[in-house]
Amino acid sequence: MYVLSRRNAIRDGIGKIIEDSVPVDSIRFIDPPTVYISNNARDRTTMFAKFQNFWTQENIQTRLDDIRLKLSSSISIRIYTDGSLIKKDNNNSHITTMGCGWCAFDENDTEFNFSGKVENFASSTRAELMAILTAVYATPKPIEEIANIQNLTLRLEKVKAHSGVIHNETADKLAREGCLKPVCFLDLQSLTSVNAVSCWNTETIEEPLRHFTKKLDNKETRQRAFNVKLFNNELPTLEKLKDRFPKIYENDSCIRCNLEKEDQVHVLTCPKNLIDIHSCKNKLINLLVNKTTTVACEDTCKNICKTLEALKELHIPRDVNMRDADHLSFIDVMLGLIPITVYDIVLQKVVTHKLADQIIDDVFVQFKLFLHTHI
Ligand SMILES: [Zn+2]
Repeated sequence: MYVLSRRNAIRDGIGKIIEDSVPVDSIRFIDPPTVYISNNARDRTTMFAKFQNFWTQENIQTRLDDIRLKLSSSISIRIYTDGSLIKKDNNNSHITTMGCGWCAFDENDTEFNFSGKVENFASSTRAELMAILTAVYATPKPIEEIANIQNLTLRLEKVKAHSGVIHNETADKLAREGCLKPVCFLDLQSLTSVNAVSCWNTETIEEPLRHFTKKLDNKETRQRAFNVKLFNNELPTLEKLKDRFPKIYENDSCIRCNLEKEDQVHVLTCPKNLIDIHSCKNKLINLLVNKTTTVACEDTCKNICKTLEALKELHIPRDVNMRDADHLSFIDVMLGLIPITVYDIVLQKVVTHKLADQIIDDVFVQFKLFLHTHI
């Protein structure tokens, strides 16, 4: 790719990329449009304050600043850029590496080279754009201003790969070398044209948000959704579906056992479940005992067993507000309510609320996972 450009021109130019029509293999030079820069006293080397620490890798920042300094007195700059994306098969796993590179020439044909690694979202366009961005960053600042004042039209010209444009071949080589060089990564927060930068924890999200959130719909998210729906009586049971779409769901009896209406409680107690409610109870007891005894001693187990065994299986009033915290059923526990008596036993043994909270939390996460996979 041949570039004589500036940041805005890239944006405008993308839409006007000119396809190269010269036959492959013919050795030639492109005669570029030239911008002459008068070398006045203006500060041409210092980057705009907001972009001064644009690159997160210090050696990339230093290298680009250094080239800009050396190009600062040039009256003409030609830059050939290229990006590279290499896929390798390594024991059945694909490894993709990206690099960018360019060579710049001043009016005396002094050459300046740059190459760097490109990471994240694998795309050859990404590598090509990174090459252009680093190149624009290394050009003396007033190019942008001069282009504006003189109303110059800058353009991007696409050159076919390996079509014999010598400096384009150099750029290609530099881009491939870039795969092994320091990473070009920019601080998107400093771009004023971007209103908001989406992040996940500290990582920048570089793809459409909808794609990204779909990828997040992983096991953990589905599990959390199950827990919340279970607790709020929002699982899509036939009872609920018939209520919402009476024309589609005419019958709300359980399709597995065909014995009762399929409501939330039936989902947990259906005789056709992989496990019965007693196994669920035993599972919870085991989880609690194991977790508590790693930090506490034996009596605890007996107390936990007694307390949980004492919980009656079947449900009490449907309305959560009507429930009595001291008289929960095991169904309530399966739905997500934690008996105070159980908490107190754990607390008694481990002493601190912090530890007790942690144990109860861990155990119930595991218990819900067990229910989700077995019911
Ligand atoms: Zn059933």
